[in-house]
Parts: sequence; C-alpha cells; structure tokens
Amino acid sequence: MTTSVSTPVPSDFIRTAVAEDIKSGRFTHIKTRFPPEPNGYLHIGHAKALSVDFNIAQEFNGEFNLRFDDTNPAKEEQEYVDSIKEDILWLGYEWDELFFASDYFEAIYDYAVQLIKKGKAYVCDLSGDQIREYRGTLTAPGVDSPYRNRSVEENLDLFARMRAGEFADGSRTLRAKIDMASGNINMRDPVMYRILRAHHHRTGDKWCIYPLYDFAHGQSDSIEGISHSLCSLEYEAHRPLYDWYVRELGIYAPRQIEFARLNLSYTVLSKRKLLQLVKEGHVRGWDDPRMPTLSGYRRRGYTAASIRDFCSRIGVAKADSMVDIGMLEFSIRDELNKTAPRALAVLRPLKVVIENYPEDQTDMLDAVNHPDDPAAGTRQLPFSRELYIEQDDFREVPPPKYFRLTPGREVRLRYAYFIKCVGVVKDEAGNVIEVRCTYDPATRGGNAPDGRKVKATIHWVSAPHAVAAEVRLYDHLFTKPNPDDVPEGGHFLEGLTPNSLEILPNAFVEPSLRDATLGSRYQFERNGYFCIDSDTTSEKLVFNRTVGLKDNASK
Ligand code: ATP
Ligand code: MG
Repeated sequence: MTTSVSTPVPSDFIRTAVAEDIKSGRFTHIKTRFPPEPNGYLHIGHAKALSVDFNIAQEFNGEFNLRFDDTNPAKEEQEYVDSIKEDILWLGYEWDELFFASDYFEAIYDYAVQLIKKGKAYVCDLSGDQIREYRGTLTAPGVDSPYRNRSVEENLDLFARMRAGEFADGSRTLRAKIDMASGNINMRDPVMYRILRAHHHRTGDKWCIYPLYDFAHGQSDSIEGISHSLCSLEYEAHRPLYDWYVRELGIYAPRQIEFARLNLSYTVLSKRKLLQLVKEGHVRGWDDPRMPTLSGYRRRGYTAASIRDFCSRIGVAKADSMVDIGMLEFSIRDELNKTAPRALAVLRPLKVVIENYPEDQTDMLDAVNHPDDPAAGTRQLPFSRELYIEQDDFREVPPPKYFRLTPGREVRLRYAYFIKCVGVVKDEAGNVIEVRCTYDPATRGGNAPDGRKVKATIHWVSAPHAVAAEVRLYDHLFTKPNPDDVPEGGHFLEGLTPNSLEILPNAFVEPSLRDATLGSRYQFERNGYFCIDSDTTSEKLVFNRTVGLKDNASK
C-alpha cells in the first residue's frame, strides 16, 4: 500500500471532491468499488460507472474492488456472476479484490444486533402493506409503528428467532428507529432485514433473513475500507441513511458521491427491461448484437478500447442527460477507420458477365489493405469473366443523378478495370438477373491511358473465387430517441423497431476472407465495418455490421 498519494489535476466534480478529501486528511488512501447486483448482464451504463470507479482509483494510486451486491437471492444467479466478471475483464478494468456482500452476512447481522442494543432498531410485526400505509407521503408525516417501543430484550429475542426460522416469510421485519416525520421518506424507520426463504446462489439455505440494500451496502463499503462509494443519482436520497448507519455503528465511514446515470438515445438501460427483451424473445439473447449489453457490443464488433474511449469522452456530471448514440458509434468507427483492413464484399449480389474477357482466364490485381497506412501492404484480388456487384449499383432505368452502372455507361471497378454495360438478361418476371458488360484491358489498375473519366467506382468480387457468407445488418432496437418516454397506458415494447435485424443470406466476400476468425474486423468498402459473428462455422461465414461508414443519425 502506498503512503504518498499523487493528486492528479481534478477534471470533474468527483475528482475534485476526492482531491479535497486527500488534502483535508479525511482519507489517506483511495479505494473504490463497483457493486453490481448479479441479476442480469452488464450494460453500457455499467461501463460508465466502472470507468469512473476504476479510473479514479488508478489516478489516485488507490485500489478498486469488485463486490457483488448479492442481497436479493430471488433474482440472482451464478450465470450473471460469471458474465459480469468476464465483461469487466474484457473491458480491461481488472479489480484488486473480489468480494460478495454475502461474505458479510454474519458481520451485517452483528451490526444489526448492535443497533438493537443501542435502542436504534426494532422488530416490527406490520405487514409490507401496513408499513407502506404508516409511512406517510411526501406531504404527510408517517405514523409510528405500534411495535416501535419494544424493549431491547424483546427485540434481541425476536430478531434471533427471525434468524432461527421461527416466523413465516414477510411476517416480521427489523427496522431502524429513526424519524417517522422525516422529510426524507428513506429515514422513516426503514426496513433493515426481511424474512425470506429463498435459496441463495452462494450461501444456500443458511439464511432465511436477508439485509436490505441500504443496510448492506454502506456496511460492506465500511468493512472493505472503501473511501469513496460512487453511485448513480437515484441513491442521493439514500445518502442520509447510509451516513446514519455508519455513524450510529461508530464504524469507518466512507463517503458516498452520486453522479448522473448514462442514458443513451434509442436504447433502454435497465436490467429489468433488458431481461424482458431476452425472456420474451424480442432479441436472440443477452449478447444479441442489438443489445446495449457489453456482451452484445462485443459480439457486434465493438472493442473494449472504443467503449472505454466513449466513457471518458462523456465524462461524469451531476445532472441526468441523454447521450446521443452517435457518440458511441463514433468511438468504434474512429478506431476501425484507423485499424480495420479493407476488403471487398457484395451484400446483395447481381451477376455481371464480361463478354470480352476470356472464359478460362484469371488475373490478379493489387489492392491496398489500408489507404492511410502503407505499412499494411497490399493483397491480390482475382478477376475473372464472371463477377458480382451490388444490386444497387445497377439501374436499367437510372434515376436523375445516378452515376453508377446503367446500359451504355462506363464505370470503374475498384482496383480493376473500366467496364461498360452492353445489355441485360432478365427472368420471366422481367427482373434483371445478369448484366452484360465489356471491359477495357488498357484500364488495368483503374485508370484510362487516354485520360477519359468515369463518374463512379463500384466494388465487386469474382464469382468463381468469392466466398459465400451471411451478413447481418442491425438497426436501433427502438424507434424513438427516448424509448422510456411512453404515452399514458403505453408500454416501452411498443416502441420496438419492427425489423431491427436484417439477414442477407447470399452475400459474397473476397477470397482472402475465407479463413477469417472470431475477432477479425474489416471495412467492407462502401458498406461499413464488419466483424465475424460467433455463429460462424467451418461451413459458413457470418458477419455482423458493427457500424456504418458514416453517422446516419442526422439523416
Ligand atoms: P439497472 O437499473 O439497469 O438494473 P442497477 O442500478 O440496478 O441497474 P446495479 O447492478 O445495482 O444495477 O448497478 C451497479 C452499479 O452500476 C451501481 O452503482 C449503479 O449506480 C451503476 N449503474 C447502473 N446503471 C447505470 C447507468 N445507466 N449509468 C451509470 N451508472 C449506472
Ligand atoms: Mg441497483
């Protein structure tokens, strides 16, 4: 452990507060924690919290713990614990120590006994509904529970028997004795323990009483020696209670500081809602590339670096706001533009036959792997008599300002030759199924020696050499910038985009991609950035579009 703490230049209100706490001597060692409840997969909002917790610990030469807040056994599962650890490590936010709130159940129970002995906690026989009735409202004070003045001895006895399993679920609670008239409803004798016979993923059936979040959280922070307990804004009104417990117990007191949650446009960031999307089959799973989960973004082709970059660019603020999803897309696009090798892929193929190109001939053309990085080198693309181009790059009857292939017009094939359309072949329904062209051998490499120009350059693959692939294109899951903004009586699911997944089963990619493996990312020229999907097998390549080439949010 370091004794000298370096103080970086504060860049936001939390860092400023931490630096002040060091200066004033309130804390000499900085320790933060990330406290996920293992009841779902981590989403991009959690990445923001992680980035704050992890980076502040690092900048101040401190430590960072991962602590599972597993006090609610009914909703928690090992699968979630495993996925959360995997996602955090993937992001690169390695923890110093790993804990579970359930490690502290015995200690937290002892704290409760201490508060009973101090006359600061009592066993209450009111039902959940009654507790709510007695609690009052924002404008009306609450009413004392008839059990509020039980003796210390009776409370100790009843609490021990709650633990021993003598009472039915929900029949009694342990409550803090604070102030039923407090302006802060959280201070109106909050429940500390409830009786709940539920199997816990770690403690099994050892306990039939469980502490509530508010009673477990601060005490867990205190036990670990957390200096700054950083959390999202909804916990602000819980801070007086957090402080009350540690003060009454006379234990080490961490400082809770709240920051704004991340809200992202066209996205829901609530585990409850994400769970519903998964359970009801609106997506293909927690790691569906349309999901705002870290596993979803990973599968979609986002890198950990791009998500960390996004988190540092949005920063932390005190007031809630909505971040444009374009900012997240910018982070990955910017990175892939620099790093992703270029490739030619035709997503919706249309056959082209070059009439004056010999049937049994193939020539190999040089293509650059990255236009801004000569060190990335070149590769060879086979060219032959039969090619595929995008259906969109041909129009039999061109609309105004259409400069791509059309009967009688010449265009450039990227890295290859000028070709000119000399006819079409149609099926019985009148659809163009083949475009007949001629090529000019003198334009090899893409320029005409006589200096004549073409107005369009299109991409292509050689039909006999191309590799078949399935390509998946994604749209935002929700149509509205704020999917949580639903009209009276409405439901957020009504805002789902009807076809947010588009599968193109008959795409073709250039042959150099034949052995692409998981983790491979490319820019398919003119089509966007793509990665290999985990559904890829030795028989079939599957690509996900990570992001398009341009920000189309403004369209
Ligand atoms: P959800 O509402 O999605 O279920 P949660 O707050 O219940 O999220 P936890 O597992 O309790 O999820 O969250 C762990 C930490 O992540 C908490 O400290 C919480 O403040 C923080 N967090 C959760 N969602 C966001 C978000 N959208 N932006 C920033 N921090 C968040
Ligand atoms: Mg929570």
